[in-house]
Amino acid sequence: MIKHESITVIGAGMVGTCCALHLQNEGLKVTLVDRDLPGNAASFGNLACFGIASCVPPGMPGILRKVPGMLLDKDSPLKLRWSHAPRALPWFIKYISNTKKERVEEIAKARQSLLEKVHETLDPLVNEAGAEKLMNRSGLLFTFESEEAFRESEYAFDIRCRNGVKMDYLDGNEARQFEPSLTKNVVRAIRIPDLVHTYNPGELVKALARLFEARGGTLFRRDVRGFKFGPEGVRGMITDQGDMPVDAVVIAAGVWSRKLARDLGSHVPLEAERGYHTMFHGSDTKVNSSIISVDRHISVTPMDYGVRVGGVAEFAPPDAPANWQNADMVRRQGEALFPGLSGKEVTKWMGARPSHPDSKPAIGQSPKHKNAYFAFGHDHLGLTMGSITGKLISELVANKAPSVSLEPFRPDRF
Ligand SMILES: Cc1cc2nc3c(=O)[nH]c(=O)nc-3n(C[C@H](O)[C@H](O)[C@H](O)COP(=O)(O)OP(=O)(O)OC[C@H]3O[C@@H](n4cnc5c(N)ncnc54)[C@H](O)[C@@H]3O)c2cc1C
Repeated sequence: MIKHESITVIGAGMVGTCCALHLQNEGLKVTLVDRDLPGNAASFGNLACFGIASCVPPGMPGILRKVPGMLLDKDSPLKLRWSHAPRALPWFIKYISNTKKERVEEIAKARQSLLEKVHETLDPLVNEAGAEKLMNRSGLLFTFESEEAFRESEYAFDIRCRNGVKMDYLDGNEARQFEPSLTKNVVRAIRIPDLVHTYNPGELVKALARLFEARGGTLFRRDVRGFKFGPEGVRGMITDQGDMPVDAVVIAAGVWSRKLARDLGSHVPLEAERGYHTMFHGSDTKVNSSIISVDRHISVTPMDYGVRVGGVAEFAPPDAPANWQNADMVRRQGEALFPGLSGKEVTKWMGARPSHPDSKPAIGQSPKHKNAYFAFGHDHLGLTMGSITGKLISELVANKAPSVSLEPFRPDRF
């Protein structure tokens, strides 16, 4: 029995748009609300990979030893706005406690339970949206420019292997057969043949949002500023254009979900882990698949309009001005990995990953209100996990058994 006849999803990024589509699949009347166009925030500028090999959390054992040096090294990918340190400190303490080996193993297992279901929940939506042309199925290459970097990654790849990720080990020459433009310094690589990326994540979300509207869904451009409550829970949203009544709501507003969750009485430890990209428009450098350079802490992805290089984890308020030196740093690393990399135009972008200290999203009912659902906190994997998150939210709303155990993702676990 469906609990609600209609539902409103706040946030039209990858996560919210997929929630809206899966809720429609369950027969609900769905409204999608965003203050911007669909797919224009973090879902626009990411590195475009459906990261099915990313069960390994970003925080690994031994990180505590490395953090002080990394924060002082101007070429390190880890950045902290010092004025933000007091607010971020409790988050960091929780994050470090999750880097113990047993916790890392548990987190990897939980992440993998979602990753296994990515394509069975995503591909039917992509097909129905007519967006298959935006997908590239040529795999992912992790590159190593030193034996030391390769040895240091052994544990991470062992976790992937034990979680069923298919991998091929290559030497530098074999890697360059897949990617002839790679620097000669690459001595080893690990290829994930089944990994898919999109040529344009922002456009993919827009195509999914068009599908949502074509199926009869309503998309409103409004800024949600708060909620109205009644005896049954949330009864309305306060927006920049007046109040809107709701039967039920899904909070899928990326990093800005923290404030909306607080308005619903829940304090969630959601931090902005801001990333940067440099886009080489119309680049002549041939990049065939997605690349992650383990030594350089960057990803490189071929897009439909050039080559994108990105990385960096900058802890700062989500809407604070960007520090473009970070985009310049990823640019330099990209140019070293692909000598001669250039573009007819070069642009920079910054966006905020919504990150919890245990590297797992919140997927489930709000701890305080039965007719509110949380779908946020997907850190480095929101593009990837949007579709399975949407499926799980729709199952919850439709009172169906979830296709993945929701226990590790409970919003009240913090
Ligand atoms: C450099 C970089 C590389 C990345 N690479 C990858 C990758 O390769 N693969 C991957 O899976 N993930 C990647 N990610 C992470 C991924 O981009 C995010 O996890 C994902 O985009 C989050 O999606 P979302 O829908 O939750 O949030 P968003 O895309 O940020 O969408 C949130 C939406 O909510 C709206 N909103 C917020 N507040 C309100 C409000 N009050 N009222 C109305 N609307 C509101 C916003 O306008 C926005 O449209 C990367 C991130 C970065 C920064």
